[in-house]
Amino acid sequence: MKKIGIMGGTFNPIHNGHLLLAERAYEAYALDQIIFMPTRQPAYKVDTEIASEEIRADMIRMSIANKSYFHISTLEYEREGNTYTIDTMEMLLEKYRDCIFYFIIGADSLFQLEHWHRAADLMKITHFLVATRNFESIESMKAQAEKLRQKYGANIAFIPFPTMEISSSNIRKRCKEQLSISYLVPENVEAYIKERKLYM
Ligand code: NAP
Repeated sequence: MKKIGIMGGTFNPIHNGHLLLAERAYEAYALDQIIFMPTRQPAYKVDTEIASEEIRADMIRMSIANKSYFHISTLEYEREGNTYTIDTMEMLLEKYRDCIFYFIIGADSLFQLEHWHRAADLMKITHFLVATRNFESIESMKAQAEKLRQKYGANIAFIPFPTMEISSSNIRKRCKEQLSISYLVPENVEAYIKERKLYM
């Protein structure tokens, strides 16, 4: 069975925190590849708030161009209506029967997971790899994972990860204030954002 990591995200924009998380998951769980899967643009956010699907995918492609085991899938762009992770996972499992999929998430998502669409079904069929975060005590993350295991039979494992104070929202804020985003995003993404005056 091939072991595939799915790095789902809005990626508005993709940043070095996302990339390092994918790299650490790949390494820690000996995955065969990681697929970055950007979410659709919600219909109610059509302008400046979220960069277009095409632009977010472009930035992902640039970020992963030199990594043979990083790929992108725009599968979620192709679906009508809300995109829910359960629909994606069901589709992947149906189509690729020789693969085990690991959905990679951060600490916030671990605490939100129960409220995701058809959460119980999702936890039944998906392995989750969760990045640890120092300011979220490891104990409370472990307790949350244990609660989800007991309640839903969830399959959750942790990725040892340093706390990185990088977020897409902070990058957008910095762009708006015309501050540097060097070292927060790959150089080619920084140049792309500047050239197109994104998030200003
Ligand atoms: P995002 O903001 O682009 O982030 C993508 C992932 O990277 C998140 O899990 C996030 O962790 C993690 N991350 C970002 N910065 C990080 C850092 N500095 N250090 C460690 N981890 C970091 O995307 P998102 O909007 O959270 O969406 C994530 C995925 O969850 C998407 O595929 C989305 O479709 C899915 N989702 C599904 C449902 C549903 O099915 N109902 C609901 C919500 C989300 P954090 O979780 O800690 O932010």
